[in-house]
Amino acid sequence: MSIEKFSVEKVLSVQRWTNTLFSFTMTRPAHFKFTAGQFARIGLKVGDELVVRAYSVVSSPFDEILEFFSIVVPEGAFTSNLQHLEIGDELYLEKTAYGFLTLTRYQLPLPQDLWLLATGTGLAPFISMLQDFDTWSKYKNINLVYSVRTASELAYLQRIQEIAESFGEGHTGFKFVPIITRDPLAVLHDRLPVLIENGELEKAVDLEFNPATTHVMLCGNPQMVDDTKAALKARGLTMNRRGEGNIAVENYW
Ligand code: NAP
Repeated sequence: MSIEKFSVEKVLSVQRWTNTLFSFTMTRPAHFKFTAGQFARIGLKVGDELVVRAYSVVSSPFDEILEFFSIVVPEGAFTSNLQHLEIGDELYLEKTAYGFLTLTRYQLPLPQDLWLLATGTGLAPFISMLQDFDTWSKYKNINLVYSVRTASELAYLQRIQEIAESFGEGHTGFKFVPIITRDPLAVLHDRLPVLIENGELEKAVDLEFNPATTHVMLCGNPQMVDDTKAALKARGLTMNRRGEGNIAVENYW
């Protein structure tokens, strides 16, 4: 991997949510352009080797800094080192952003109902999209659905509220739906495909999946993406290709 493809950036802050979940911010070089929903490739020197991983950007394309949300993968070469990040540390950032999980991909149906379905750190691209006024002006209804194992893993709650109050000011169609799958007492605790099949997700937001009005994005656990895709297809939604169709996805590992 050619090191010239990267710029060297500095860590500006680290926030720890749980023992295995953390977020960090770093400097953003002027050349690094991205669309909300895209991912960056970040490199870390492990010994003499540059280890690189993909990370969706949490921050908005209008921010001066870059923010990322990470899980510590047990014995993972990258994250087990990354978790010890400190302010001032150096990280490598590939100069180009990647990925097609962006709202610009949708042409038909026209924007009306946006469903953002995430598990775990798959929340990241959706936080970025929601920090863009364009998203709020395009869509009448926006449902952000965030599935985690335990309540302690629900990161970014305050930020979501702040975003809804600032970017979403005056918008009446925003709903945030947490799902806590390992807490039987949680209001919603089944996995996403089950909640789609039994209609509980639609009931929770008082809106139905409709092939003529729905844009739905899935991001997170690859098995969740596959299973949820199947559940949505069973409801008549189609994959988005060349601008047409309802479903767009990003696997996280
Ligand atoms: P996770 O297993 O992805 O669970 C997060 C949420 O997704 C939970 O609510 C979980 O429900 C749900 N879920 C899992 N499989 C599903 C499916 N087939 N359909 C619908 N929902 C599903 O947990 P995580 O803590 O975010 O990540 C777990 C592991 O994934 C980590 O320990 C790590 O090894 C790996 N990971 C790797 C990377 C990477 O970049 N290599 C990134 C993120 C995660 P349940 O409680 O019912 O399982």
